[in-house]
Amino acid sequence: MKNCPNCQAEIEDSFNVCWNCNYSITEGKIIEFKEDIPGSRELNCLRCETPMIFSGNYRFHEGTKLGVFGNFFELFVNRETFDLYLCPKCGKVEFFAPLG
Ligand SMILES: [Zn+2]
Ligand SMILES: [Zn+2]
Repeated sequence: MKNCPNCQAEIEDSFNVCWNCNYSITEGKIIEFKEDIPGSRELNCLRCETPMIFSGNYRFHEGTKLGVFGNFFELFVNRETFDLYLCPKCGKVEFFAPLG
């Protein structure tokens, strides 16, 4: 065990980032995690304001029949994958094109 130089919390020897304050021993500073990791969005359902659940990344395969979503997905014609969010209360589904 070693102690975090920033907050003195005990850190396993195999870790180089403090679990308590995100201080990176190798970088000598607190790491700020990027906000745009998949599934990190916090959003509420537009219908019922229930927090939506990240339910994975949806990928289109060539020849996928878009059916009723066809018109909607034409907005993202150059995108292949989407982050899928689901409202556990009313079942509303939202897609987001991943950034970057
Ligand atoms: Zn720390
Ligand atoms: Zn809902």
